[in-house]
Amino acid sequence: MSDRYAVIGHPIAHSRSPQIHAAFARQTHQDLRYDRLLAPLEDFAGTLSAFFSDGGCGANVTVPFKEEAFELAHEHSARASAAGAANTLSFREGRIVADNTDGAGLVRDITINQSFPLKQKRILLMGAGGAARGVIQPLLAEGPASFYIANRTLSKAQALAERFGIRACTYAELAGAQFDLIVNATSASLQDALPPLPPEALAGSFVYDMVYGAEETPFLAFGRAHGAARSSDGLGMLIEQAAESFFIWRGVRPDTAPVFEQMRASF
Ligand code: NDP
Repeated sequence: MSDRYAVIGHPIAHSRSPQIHAAFARQTHQDLRYDRLLAPLEDFAGTLSAFFSDGGCGANVTVPFKEEAFELAHEHSARASAAGAANTLSFREGRIVADNTDGAGLVRDITINQSFPLKQKRILLMGAGGAARGVIQPLLAEGPASFYIANRTLSKAQALAERFGIRACTYAELAGAQFDLIVNATSASLQDALPPLPPEALAGSFVYDMVYGAEETPFLAFGRAHGAARSSDGLGMLIEQAAESFFIWRGVRPDTAPVFEQMRASF
């Protein structure tokens, strides 16, 4: 029987992870099956335990369970511990091992796929939710010149700033500021909304929206209208974080470029 994996979340129907992992498995000749699992909001632990008891080898975890997944795990990688959240779980000899591949996926997409080194760059991260906390440490590891975090609810940005030794601010405080890279880790684009970033902050920068889809996101359109030098949505991050999970589980690193093309064409 094929080794079994799954992505667990609530909601889950929209997840593209099964197509991505199926493509990786075909490419690397791995015999595995990867499904979507909808966990009830109040029983992620039950869904996970049933999946592992039933022979599951590993799981990806998405909104809103990444922090709970971290808490439930018996062992944690350094990057899961830094984030306090897990998106990749492996089941080994009865123990749950947690990792977080979101940050590695983002950094790989920006620095390798898009050839944009982050050393000595000025970085602004917008948002202070689960996605933001997963990417701060991996971005800092690239050696940026400065790192700001802005969020609608300032206290949440301040808590992360304290945890990671970076600077927190409101959007209004960014008037006149300039950045080399601005990462939108808010869910605003999903509501067709924009964080209230002063437009001059966008001039000459690389704008990256973690949200992805067929249409240009409101944030990327805003960047284009205000002089951003380049832009990217989050499809590359999605595929790279999946490739990192695949590597953890299978010990093989898939070639992500053809899978990116295939997924982009499927929108
Ligand atoms: P959370 O719900 O944990 O956090 C949402 C964040 O967005 C909060 O900081 C919130 O601010 C902010 N926000 C929401 N609406 C607005 C708005 N209208 N204006 C300004 N700020 C707003 O979500 P996640 O962190 O888990 O995910 C964020 C986004 O990243 C999602 O859209 C998700 O799809 C995407 N993502 C993409 C990945 C990829 O691989 N491409 C991987 C992971 C996530 P406040 O604190 O004030 O409420």
